[in-house]
Amino acid sequence: MLVVMDKKATPQQVDAVVAAIEARGYAARPIPGGQRVAIGVLRNDGPVDASLFSGLEGVRDIIPVTRPYKLVSREFKPDDTVVRVGSASVGNGRLTFIAGPCAIESEDQALTIAEAVAERGAHLFRGGAFKPRTSPYSFQGLGEEGLKILARVRQETGLPVVTEVMDCETFDLVEHYSDVIQIGTRNMQNFSLLRRAGRCSKPVLLKRGMAATIDEWLMAAEYVMEGGNTDVILCERGVRTFAHHSRNTLDLSAVPVVRKESHLPIIVDPSHAAGRRDQVIPLSRASVAVGAHGLMVEVHHAPDQALSDGAQSLYPDQFRKLHDQAQSIFDIFHPEESGSFSPRKGQAHEAATLSH
Ligand code: PEP
Ligand code: MN
Repeated sequence: MLVVMDKKATPQQVDAVVAAIEARGYAARPIPGGQRVAIGVLRNDGPVDASLFSGLEGVRDIIPVTRPYKLVSREFKPDDTVVRVGSASVGNGRLTFIAGPCAIESEDQALTIAEAVAERGAHLFRGGAFKPRTSPYSFQGLGEEGLKILARVRQETGLPVVTEVMDCETFDLVEHYSDVIQIGTRNMQNFSLLRRAGRCSKPVLLKRGMAATIDEWLMAAEYVMEGGNTDVILCERGVRTFAHHSRNTLDLSAVPVVRKESHLPIIVDPSHAAGRRDQVIPLSRASVAVGAHGLMVEVHHAPDQALSDGAQSLYPDQFRKLHDQAQSIFDIFHPEESGSFSPRKGQAHEAATLSH
């Protein structure tokens, strides 16, 4: 439930409503708006009796929230959330590109790829230091050394860095070195990790579980927001189906549904959805066409030698092509924003061809 305060409500009246909500055993979350404050009522299991609060001074309206997720929903916050990360941002009416290898393998490898993607239009660099691998015998990532390399990449290229956190034990370390904390598909419902992410000072990129419904995914985001971290970026990365022509099946319909249900920005990772390089550019174009705020893709200068996910990693020049094509599709829907966020401003239109 949302208690909407009058435009002229005083801070004392807001405090009194908060106290009344808490006295009933609920949590109150004031949400300042442009015109007026709204106070979200949380931690209620069932419907809340509106008459408890409708008569309090300064209260203008009571709006029931029908969704199981509250802080994440558009009912709570109608305006789009923009997540700012250093010089970049996600969800601000511009298309954000996150690119880099699956895993950080060495300083040379990371810097080579980072420079290549920075020059070709990436706004953030990605790379795993702690890797959740299906087999315990596969490369598990460089751990802290990988995080130090990521910090070096940021220093050299100016790109903010995104990296995955796998557990609560290493959370402080990952939080210290990274600009955006990724929670992977296998951890989407790791509730202690989500709660720790809620207390985190950095934005969280929350991937959809490979078998999660959209409601479950948004409830996972609710855990993070409920902990006090409002900077959540959702990432669709494909779900598991019977199909064998791709590693997962990219659920593009999730994008318009999430945009309708939630104010949080949503990006798409076509690399893990496809598992194959040849599908990544077409799926990227489609993702932008259905309304993604950004794309996260794996890029490697020598994919044949990559220690993980080489088969789905693009060559740097393919990333350039992806960037330019995706940007021109984005510009069709957002002509007023055209190219304004691209480091290669103005070139996107010229370079883009929509052929394969
Ligand atoms: C990744 O982005 O490196 C990754 C492991 O992705 P996912 O959690 O989507 O499999
Ligand atoms: Mn990968």
